[in-house]
Amino acid sequence: MATLLYDADANIELIQQKRIAIIGYGSQGHAHALNLRDSGCTVLIGLPEISRSRARAEKDGFSPLLPHEAAAQADCIMLLVPDQYQGQVYSESIKETLAPGKLLLVAHGFGLHYGQIVPPDNIDVAMVAPNGPGVQLRQMYVASSGIPALWTIYQDVSGHARELTISYARALGCTRAGIIQTTLAEETETDLFAEQVVLCGGLTSLIRNAFETLVEAGYQPEVAYTCCLQEVKLIADLLYKGGIHFMHNSISDTAEFGDYLTGPRIIGQQSREQMRNVLHEIQDGTFARNWILENQAGRPTLQALRRKDAAHQIEAVGKHMRQMLP
Ligand code: NAD
Ligand code: MG
Ligand code: MG
Ligand code: MG
Ligand code: MG
Ligand code: MG
Repeated sequence: MATLLYDADANIELIQQKRIAIIGYGSQGHAHALNLRDSGCTVLIGLPEISRSRARAEKDGFSPLLPHEAAAQADCIMLLVPDQYQGQVYSESIKETLAPGKLLLVAHGFGLHYGQIVPPDNIDVAMVAPNGPGVQLRQMYVASSGIPALWTIYQDVSGHARELTISYARALGCTRAGIIQTTLAEETETDLFAEQVVLCGGLTSLIRNAFETLVEAGYQPEVAYTCCLQEVKLIADLLYKGGIHFMHNSISDTAEFGDYLTGPRIIGQQSREQMRNVLHEIQDGTFARNWILENQAGRPTLQALRRKDAAHQIEAVGKHMRQMLP
């Protein structure tokens, strides 16, 4: 069984005694900065001169520095820029500021695990990855609660990396919910797998294919949208609250019977085989290489797929329906 750590397992004073640089002020960045500040920590923000996030950080009462300035003045550096830019930001602004005694933190393992960041061997390196978007990380903290997080120590040179990392997680509010120890490989690979197979890729493919099947068969797109997309939230809420069996208890017997009979016909052996292939491509670095090369090429595939995504009939129907049913 995975062990969970809570507030009582963490000494918050350790992180309160450090200066923390938060590099990036987006979804995660703003939540880390505000939660840490409210937990009594000294927080510096690092953002490029031209960053649109500067205004937001200033509005929240911070005086952003340049990334290398914030990193140079800090004992702990949390890298919260998009994963695809972390390698570049690290080499251009962070690397030169690292010195023994410093702790480099990340909130997702992609950059370290796939070699985009290669830290020197004389500093501490760790991960605290909250299990949710920054908005929730902040909202839950403000509500005296927290969201869980995964954490791991990548490199402990000082002998204090573990205590300080857990202290950081406490200041974030995550030990109020519980934090689970993982490895960089486990966090990175399971995160990519789940978003591709279930949460994002799998779910959107399922919804679109079902929507197209109904519309093709002559049903009203508005009705198809409501039952195939909007109602997902109601089922997801039940799954979140109590798991699959609980959800089955809450739906009608008809829906439950249909679930048992039809579910395995839709996601069967063929999909399972593809899941294994996808997992192999994540494990052997194929996906990471494609994503890194895509960024180096100026993201031509992402732009083309985004245009196609936005042009799908389900978007126009959805826009209309969301106006009609607020
Ligand atoms: P984001 O896109 O919301 O924000 C990125 C921030 O970095 C912005 O403020 C942007 O201005 C800034 N930035 C961009 N280029 C920069 C540069 N060259 N130098 C300095 N700052 C730069 O990103 P995010 O979703 O907060 O993701 C940050 C990290 O947190 C990633 O490692 C991500 O995997 C991880 N994470 C995200 C979530 C989530 O739900 N969003 C959850 C857990 C972990
Ligand atoms: Mg996006
Ligand atoms: Mg995750
Ligand atoms: Mg992810
Ligand atoms: Mg029932
Ligand atoms: Mg129904």
